[in-house]
Amino acid sequence: MADTELMDKLVSLAKRRGYVFQSSEIYGGAASVWDYGPLGVELKRNVKEAWWKSMVHERDDIEGLDAAILMHPRVWEASGHVSHFTDPLVECLNCHRRFREDTLLSEQGAGSPAELQCPSCGTRGKWTEPRQFNLMFKTFKGPAEDSAEIVYLRPETAQGIYVNFLNVQQSARQKVPFGIAQVGKAFRNEITPGNFTFRTLEFEQMEMQFFVKPGTDAEWFERWREQRLAWHREVLGLAPDRLRYHPHEKLAHYASAAGDVEFFFGGSIGDEGWGEIEGIHNRTDYDLGRHQEYSGKRLEYIDAAAGERYLPYIIETSAGADRVTLAVLANAYREEEVEGETRVVLSLRPSLAPLKTGVFPLVKKDGMPERAGRIHEALRARGIPSFYDESGAIGRRYRRQDEAGTPFGITVDGETMENGTVTVRERDTMAQARIGQDQLEAYLRERIG
Ligand code: ATP
Repeated sequence: MADTELMDKLVSLAKRRGYVFQSSEIYGGAASVWDYGPLGVELKRNVKEAWWKSMVHERDDIEGLDAAILMHPRVWEASGHVSHFTDPLVECLNCHRRFREDTLLSEQGAGSPAELQCPSCGTRGKWTEPRQFNLMFKTFKGPAEDSAEIVYLRPETAQGIYVNFLNVQQSARQKVPFGIAQVGKAFRNEITPGNFTFRTLEFEQMEMQFFVKPGTDAEWFERWREQRLAWHREVLGLAPDRLRYHPHEKLAHYASAAGDVEFFFGGSIGDEGWGEIEGIHNRTDYDLGRHQEYSGKRLEYIDAAAGERYLPYIIETSAGADRVTLAVLANAYREEEVEGETRVVLSLRPSLAPLKTGVFPLVKKDGMPERAGRIHEALRARGIPSFYDESGAIGRRYRRQDEAGTPFGITVDGETMENGTVTVRERDTMAQARIGQDQLEAYLRERIG
């Protein structure tokens, strides 16, 4: 399968099986905004929960936070977003489509804008002068659309963490080094969104800001870089040969070191198919320093034992929940030939799969539907998301769950009625085992994790 086809196939599977729908579809769709359907919302929640578990629940040195999307407008002046969060926008004078000049220059390997060709109509060298376009969505608070009442939809969740640094440190009685983690929506008015959920206008971030003593920052940066790469590989199961770390050559105004965890999506994403899923940055003391200056409030950490006070440096790990979920889907998608037919499988880790089991009566008679229904209800009651299906041939029912990514199929057949055993079919290998009904939960739990 060509890389370019993968995204088209994922878009269609996502719609067919209820992972992702285009926003406002009945109105012709809202471009670059997507809705998660019944299975998609579960998958994304499982990704976010796996992150929260690794970052917050399994550690003593990271606290959670849920800061509001709307913040004081001065936050965005202090952070540099009002003046710096811009992309150079150019418009083709022939077809009037708009693009990011920097992206076109690097994609086309061009030395100057005069050499650039419009990707839409093919006209060369006919562009408006580049204009710095701010990516923040702006709105107004209260009834008067007055510049004094401007508020922004946050373009990153990080600033909510920085302004709460002392609140969290003092209330949780944390000592530096420690971190604050948060999952939440962010909004960017991207000039060229696209590639399904890879680049959208509204998305979710999973961000962790780790506060360290100046001088220990390079070492912490290295530690976080390694831990985050290992997380994508070991917890999400992303294939090692589709993961890489890419250091930034050009650094943002706030950073002293930065790099991206990239996943190989293929097609037109990123650098020859490699797209960023998480950024890791050494933000120095820039953020706390700026908020201290703009708010007039001291934000220093006081180390009473050492008799020191200082502004901590920040190591940031910033992952996109939507991009990571898309990477999980792309990583899981397989097509295989089985008995002359193409079998589509979403080979999701059982811990991430939206549904863990499909429960099927072999036939719709002899008490099998009732028995299977009871197994399904018992699993659900025990916190194992399950799906009951009695319609159509058993092969078709298996295939539907293969596409949905359900790792186990449980079938009630004649033997079940005689001796209380069921067959458990494993999605990836299609191997079947006979398990006593009373062993079922333990068998599944061991494999779901
Ligand atoms: P890019 O270079 O792709 O625009 P970025 O470097 O601006 O990304 P960061 O500001 O580091 O991204 O944001 C952290 C993470 O948030 C990214 O790694 C990505 O997973 C996610 N993200 C950023 N912008 C978007 C977007 N428009 N749509 C979906 N996810 C996004």
